[in-house]
Amino acid sequence: MLEYVRCNLCGADNTEPVAEIEGFHIVRCRQCGLIYVNPRYREDFLQQLYTAEYYDHDGIRNGQAFFGYEDYIADEENIRITFAKRLRTIERFVNKGRLLDVGCATGFFLDLARAKGWEVVGSEVSEFAAQYAREKFGLEVHLGALRQLHFAPEAFDAVTMWDVIEHVADPMGDLQEVWRILREGGLLSLITPDSDSLVARLLGKRWEELRRVREHIYFFSRRTITEMLRRAGFEVLRIESADKVFYLGPAMERLKYYTWDGVLTKTATHLVYKLGLDRIRININPFTKIAVYARKRTETSL
Ligand SMILES: [Zn+2]
Repeated sequence: MLEYVRCNLCGADNTEPVAEIEGFHIVRCRQCGLIYVNPRYREDFLQQLYTAEYYDHDGIRNGQAFFGYEDYIADEENIRITFAKRLRTIERFVNKGRLLDVGCATGFFLDLARAKGWEVVGSEVSEFAAQYAREKFGLEVHLGALRQLHFAPEAFDAVTMWDVIEHVADPMGDLQEVWRILREGGLLSLITPDSDSLVARLLGKRWEELRRVREHIYFFSRRTITEMLRRAGFEVLRIESADKVFYLGPAMERLKYYTWDGVLTKTATHLVYKLGLDRIRININPFTKIAVYARKRTETSL
């Protein structure tokens, strides 16, 4: 079930330990700085993690395990607001056309982009999520990992890959595949946790993204993701921290993993619910995720 891998960015096999979480070893490549789990679950096993339970998991609420989403579907409106903002940024870099959302989950983004005039296609390894997207929104969603789906070359004007690359077995292979299926000058929008962020540095082993060792097997910094994109044939146009819309209640509950004073956090959270403020919508940028907009580079565009 486990496999030992070399560095996905530079190919070296020369690492130093970063942390050990739930028996998994997180290491840093001494050559290029990429952080990854090694050894880790094999690809076929990784793809089986994303069941219906993954999208509605009790672990975080109970403080037991960092895995999946508390209730992804119930959070649809907030997710759509976040996604709509990202789409507006994408449209500043590329004209509307054909868009592929890699790891499209339940299809909220595809549904939204289609309504804005894009022709949309999704790919998803979760059978539950793919089925939901097809039935609920009538979307074209292909079941499987990106490289298994064999899309036609230069088939898309834009590819989105949000909170996906840290989960896949071969990030470089996937970026090369995105390059192949994007048209010349096409845009890739990618979001992934930032292992170099202040929160990550302060929390160390307590950082939520790091504690998701079963599903997160790669941890990027701005430097390592930029280098991987460059090697895969992309030019980074813009790199920033991703923000996200939350309800105040669940955001407060999450705070307990980010603060040292548990009692104060608990009291404040309790107060928020008591005053009925928990459903207030807030936009947070915790600077824990990298958002990259990159263009496919070709011989002629150099
Ligand atoms: Zn390396």
